[in-house]
Amino acid sequence: ILTLVNIHKRFGDLEVLKGIDFSLKKGEKIVILGPSGSGKSTVLRCINRLESIEYGQVFFKNNEITSQTKLTRLRMDIGMVFQRFNLFPHMTVLENIIEGPVHIKKMSKKEAIPLAEDLLKRVGLSDKRDVYPNKLSGGQQQRVAIARSLAMKPEILLFDEPTSALDPELVGEVLDVMKDLADDGMTMIVVTHEMQFARDVADRVIFMDEGLIVEQGTPDVIFTAPKHERTKTFLKRII
Ligand code: ATP
Ligand code: MG
Repeated sequence: ILTLVNIHKRFGDLEVLKGIDFSLKKGEKIVILGPSGSGKSTVLRCINRLESIEYGQVFFKNNEITSQTKLTRLRMDIGMVFQRFNLFPHMTVLENIIEGPVHIKKMSKKEAIPLAEDLLKRVGLSDKRDVYPNKLSGGQQQRVAIARSLAMKPEILLFDEPTSALDPELVGEVLDVMKDLADDGMTMIVVTHEMQFARDVADRVIFMDEGLIVEQGTPDVIFTAPKHERTKTFLKRII
């Protein structure tokens, strides 16, 4: 469903991505690991074009989207959940979720509201429908942010460290929602340091360092028998 070919990206003199290649099948779940500054967020941002790509190609469903100008369409198809949830503070939970469907997809409110209510049920927050984001815990806010992304019916969902801004006791509820999504067959790329999640959910783990994919494989192989010294060092530090 998604293929990256030789993606390069630099910020000024700094070459942040030095040739990233991988592809993702429909329904597949990939976890990307790597030290800070290795380029994980930049990879995700290049996929949905929050960053431009200097060299290389991205294909989505056999169409090259590298220089796609219909970014709104692209971001409907490929959703993203950030570390900071960025909900609209002046809108209720329900209003946050229907905003995209109503204003971008031109769905009627009559259609969008039941959709939003379904999604709230799915993330376990039906009772927070009419509450403002500042009355929610971080974990609840992140679950709303996930529901908001889902409201656009994306074909792929990208997660950039969705739990790393949360208090430890709130991490589990967000990971549970993500696991449910995975079980439902969502195609996902997740940047996270949550190793148990990676073991449970990932079909494939990609380890990045200094703008390159150092190695990739099933969680079993990467966690128990990594081939590269850099992967070993990283995993030792983090587990
Ligand atoms: P972390 O685990 O800390 O989130 P990361 O692997 O996601 O790290 P990136 O955010 O992709 O890393 O950043 C890769 C490199 O690119 C870093 O050295 C970062 O400082 C640099 N960088 C990222 N965004 C920009 C930008 N907009 N302008 C300049 N440099 C940037
Ligand atoms: Mg990052």
